Amino acid sequence: MELKGFSTKVIHTGYARKDAHNALHLPIYSNAAFDFETAEEMADAFQGRRPDHTYSRVSNPTVENFEKRVRSITGALGVTALGSGMAAISNTFFTLTQAGDNIVTSKHLFGNSLSFLTSTLKAFGVETKLVDLTNFEEVKAAIDENTVALFFETITNPQLEIVDIAVLSKIAHEHGVAVIADSTLTPPNTFNAPAFGVDIEVISSTKIISGGATSTGGLIIDYGRFDWSRNAKLNDFARRFGPFAFNAKLRKEIQRNLGACLSPFHAYLQSLGLETLDLRFNKAANNSLLLAEYLQTESKIKQVNYPGLKNSPFYDLGRKQFGENPGAIITFDFRSRAESFRFLNNLQIINRATNIYDNRSLAIHPASTIFGDFTPETRESINVSDTLIRLSVGIEDIDDLINDIHQAIERIE
Ligand SMILES: *Cc1c(COP(=O)(O)O)cnc(C)c1O
Repeated sequence: MELKGFSTKVIHTGYARKDAHNALHLPIYSNAAFDFETAEEMADAFQGRRPDHTYSRVSNPTVENFEKRVRSITGALGVTALGSGMAAISNTFFTLTQAGDNIVTSKHLFGNSLSFLTSTLKAFGVETKLVDLTNFEEVKAAIDENTVALFFETITNPQLEIVDIAVLSKIAHEHGVAVIADSTLTPPNTFNAPAFGVDIEVISSTKIISGGATSTGGLIIDYGRFDWSRNAKLNDFARRFGPFAFNAKLRKEIQRNLGACLSPFHAYLQSLGLETLDLRFNKAANNSLLLAEYLQTESKIKQVNYPGLKNSPFYDLGRKQFGENPGAIITFDFRSRAESFRFLNNLQIINRATNIYDNRSLAIHPASTIFGDFTPETRESINVSDTLIRLSVGIEDIDDLINDIHQAIERIE
C-alpha cells in the first residue's frame, strides 16, 4: 500500500532484514569495512555494478536507511547524510563551485556558513556576494555570468527574516543559477522546498531532526531538477549522468574525499528523531505562538518577533511558505542589556545555552556570546542589538514556560 503521510513514511520506510534477527528497528552497523564472497563481487561493488557497501566512509547500511527515510518524505532524487550541518554546506559548495565562480547570498547567515563562504571557500578562488535578499533589484544586479548559486536560509537567525523563495528562485533560474536553501529552521514536514523552486536543500539535522540535539548531523537533499550543463564544474557530469550530475559528483568524489561521514550511531539517533519530528516540531511551534502572544503583554519587553504573530512583517510569507508553524524561535528586547542579563539569570526552567531546536527551551543573549567577537558596528548591521534575547522554544508544557518567563521578568528590578 502506498504510504502517504509524513510520519507514516518515516516510520514504515524499512530496511532489508536479511542478516538481522527480524528486529523491528534498524540495527546500528558500527563497522568500517564489509566482507565479500568473491573477488568478482568485490570488484563489482567497488565499480558500482552492485549496490553493496564497501567502506563506511563511503556508505553504511544504518546511514543509508536514514537517507532513504529522508528521500521518502521529500521525494528527492538523492539524499546524502553527513557528520554535521557544516559538512552538508561545505560539501555542497565544493561540489558545485570552482575558482572564478561566485555565489550570491545575504549576510544574514549562520556564523560558520558566512565564515565558510567568505574565508574558506574564498581561499579556493570562489567569491561570495552579500546582498539584501529582500531587495530583488539588488539580487538581479549581483548575478553575473560567473554566478553559480543563490544561497539563503529559510528563516534567518536571529533576525527571523523570511525571504520570498518563489520570487528568488525565479530570478535565479532565469539567469541559469542554482537555488540552494538552508532549511534547518523549517524541516521537511513544514516546508515543501521544490514547490518553491529550491534545487538543493541543506539541513543541520543536529537540530530538530536528531530528536532534539542528541547528536550532530547534516543532510544534502538534491531534487534533481537543475540543469547542471549550465555549471562549468558539472557540465561533464551533466552529459554523463543527466539530472544525477550533482549527486554523482558529490557521492563519487567530494563526499569521499572530504570524509565528513555521519557515524552509524548518530544515523540511528537521527532516524529515531525523524519518527517523532512532526509531533515535536508542531508542539514547539505551537508553544512559540502562545509564548510570543504572552510576551507581548509584558510591559518590560520592548518588542517581540515571531513570524507566526499577525503583526510580524513576515506573517504572510511565513504562512505561504511554512503553513501554520513558522519555526520555534522567538526574539525579544528588554530596555537595557542589564535587564536582559538579569532576565536570563532569573530563569529557573529554561536553560541558558546556545543551540536551537532542543526538546528543552534555550535562552541566550546573542550579542555577548555567538556574536561577541564581532564589532558593535557589524552587530548593528546584522540586527543583533545589545538588548536582544533569543529563545529557542522546546516541547515543555506551555504553562511552565510562561510561569518561568513571568517570574524571571517580575524579578528583574
Ligand atoms: C546549526 C546550524 C548550522 C550548522 O550545523 P552544525 O550541525 O552545527 O554543523 C547551519 N545552518 C543553520 C541554520 C544552523 O542553525
